Amino acid sequence: MEAEARDTAPIKIYTDGSGFNDGAGAAAVLYANGTGAPTNSLRHHLGPLTDHSTYEGEAVGLILVAWFLRTHCKNRVGQDSISIYTDCQSAITTARDMKLGPGQYLFNEFHKLIAPLRGQGPNRVKFTIRWISAHSDVAGNEKVDEEAKEAAQGNSTPPIFLPSLLRRPLPLGKSALLQQAKKDRKEEWKTEWNSSPRKKKMKKVDKDFPHANFSKMADAMTRRQASILVQLRTGHLPLNDYLYKRKLSPSPTCPACTTNRDETLDHILTECPAYMKQRSSLRRTIKGRSLSKYHTLLSDPKRAMAIVTFIENTKRWKTGYMKPAARDQSEN
Ligand SMILES: [Zn+2]
Repeated sequence: MEAEARDTAPIKIYTDGSGFNDGAGAAAVLYANGTGAPTNSLRHHLGPLTDHSTYEGEAVGLILVAWFLRTHCKNRVGQDSISIYTDCQSAITTARDMKLGPGQYLFNEFHKLIAPLRGQGPNRVKFTIRWISAHSDVAGNEKVDEEAKEAAQGNSTPPIFLPSLLRRPLPLGKSALLQQAKKDRKEEWKTEWNSSPRKKKMKKVDKDFPHANFSKMADAMTRRQASILVQLRTGHLPLNDYLYKRKLSPSPTCPACTTNRDETLDHILTECPAYMKQRSSLRRTIKGRSLSKYHTLLSDPKRAMAIVTFIENTKRWKTGYMKPAARDQSEN
């Protein structure tokens, strides 16, 4: 590759991730002595391809590069220019833009490792990440391709020479993804919560909401249950009373019973005869605590879960407006 040939940086590091023989591997090769022969190489075997992707391998490759910069090249960062070569375009964009995606925690680790190196040294020479075609005839590129294939087949550098993250098995790609999804969901709820007009009022009830308690509770819940919890805490449960006040339903009356009472949360929690069975199991869980003070109950994970389950069982958390008359048809 021409650009690579013109590159006069005294330090060049090549990195590659590989999926080879059912394994995922990563490698980085360092050229720092000006002779054209590699100075050092690092390899890491991630595991079988059923557990880890080549993409994660590319990310681990960058971590190995960062490790070279932190250890072998420590005194030359900020003195000499350093070029880093990868054939993974998305590794470059992700490393730059911090986009969320699978293996994001690996890219975060890369950034954590290189952060202290930025702006180091009198010349403050930055290291540059460059893209190199996978098929180019550059010796460094061929060498790192070989090393990554070795790594994919289980031939790792001894853990003691690797950064701490790579000294124990990485979380499975899939579970890392699920963790990310959970985090995204929490952010979503936090946004929903923060935009709620009831926020100030609720802050008094539970000072560290939504962070600590809510996150802990939401972890143990299904998506639907967590959504009901938000509706309960923000007072946005779509009951007829709530809908009527917003001109979304023609009547505030409870559709489930014949008491002709407004369908408020208080009504369905404490008195509606249609939910007697659900209520008695709820009462067993909250052990004599008053249901009319449900806001305080929501701060306790066990009790919150019991109330959420109650609402879930009433099926009133998402059905929206129901005509009082519809009751006779829906209840056999
Ligand atoms: Zn009722």
